[in-house]
Amino acid sequence: MGMKLGIIGYGGMGYWHGEYAPRAGVEVVAAYDVDPKRLEMAKDNGIEAYDNLDEFLKHDGMNFVVIATPNDVHKELTIKSMHAGMHVMVEKPATMSVADWDDMVAESEKTGQILTVHQNRRWDKDYNVMRKVVEEGKIGEVLSIESRVFGTGGAFFGWRSFPEYGGGMILDWGVHLFDQLLGMYPDIKVTNVYAKLMTVLDQKVDDYFKVTLTLENGPLLHVEVGTYAFYKLPRWYVIGNEGTLQIDDFDCEKGGYMKPRYTDTPVAEVVVMTSAGPTRMMAPRPPETKEDFPLPEVETDWTELYQNLVGVMEGKEDLIVKPHQVRRVLELIEVIFQSAEEDRSIEVRI
Ligand code: NAD
Repeated sequence: MGMKLGIIGYGGMGYWHGEYAPRAGVEVVAAYDVDPKRLEMAKDNGIEAYDNLDEFLKHDGMNFVVIATPNDVHKELTIKSMHAGMHVMVEKPATMSVADWDDMVAESEKTGQILTVHQNRRWDKDYNVMRKVVEEGKIGEVLSIESRVFGTGGAFFGWRSFPEYGGGMILDWGVHLFDQLLGMYPDIKVTNVYAKLMTVLDQKVDDYFKVTLTLENGPLLHVEVGTYAFYKLPRWYVIGNEGTLQIDDFDCEKGGYMKPRYTDTPVAEVVVMTSAGPTRMMAPRPPETKEDFPLPEVETDWTELYQNLVGVMEGKEDLIVKPHQVRRVLELIEVIFQSAEEDRSIEVRI
């Protein structure tokens, strides 16, 4: 049984699915959108286009839909699609509350249809390289992980600038970055959440945020996203008790990890005059007492996500992006909004 995919919301991301799903061997058969211009575009790309949801859902042979609309309508479209016999992959964020997600999962259980979320950034190279260095213990016990994405675009476009449609950076990039980090610690609880959500430009939604998560017997996690930050900081910065990892960007062209090299050269024994003043701890380290390592090579293949869905349809595989993982991220996001609103850290067990 192959996957015959329909696309709901043929905008930026819907178009992406239409172009990329075939690379994973998936047949894209139909698209539904409320914007006639996007439907014209779908037709031009050889996809049968519908302006009526009920008719779209009856498209002959279609068995799977991907939902790539603004976030506020993910829930109703997911439930309607499953009710019509479709398996569903909904774009991130799956929806805007845990209660809504629970309703979507209940419908999936009732109908027996697959329900998953397009958490494609689990396959990003930078994330997998960072994870490999950390999980192989290359920099010892990890104390702090900083995950950061900075851009300079500033203003949001379209629905992304309105809270009622699920705009803002927590629900945009944040969802990916929290999913990545929680995925590394499936059995370790988040015990404390502190979040600052800000608007740098005059907007109704967060265009800059900083979130700090405390893990029970795990590293401190820092996630920062800025849309108006003109100097880049590394995508990843990880401190371990045996070294430090830095990955500058998504392509992993620059970065590495550095560890102490044990030599006879004394470190921090004498006070050194530096531009920071007289210091021992902050003095430059003699080069022979440290060692640079290149980032490891990691093969990632995002088509694994679609291939997994075909495997699940055929009963041969378990879902990679599982409902309980999605729920955990949404639970965290609710607390993030609460922390920001009340301007305090919140104790949790997530
Ligand atoms: P977009 O504005 O480019 O496209 C949204 C499309 O949905 C538009 O064509 C619009 O006409 C259509 N639409 C709006 N309401 C609709 C409705 N009720 N029924 C059918 N169609 C409707 O937005 P986008 O950037 O493509 O984002 C869409 C979704 O994809 C969002 O949930 C977003 O978070 C997600 N997204 C995910 C990634 C990723 O990497 N996984 C990247 C970008 C966007």
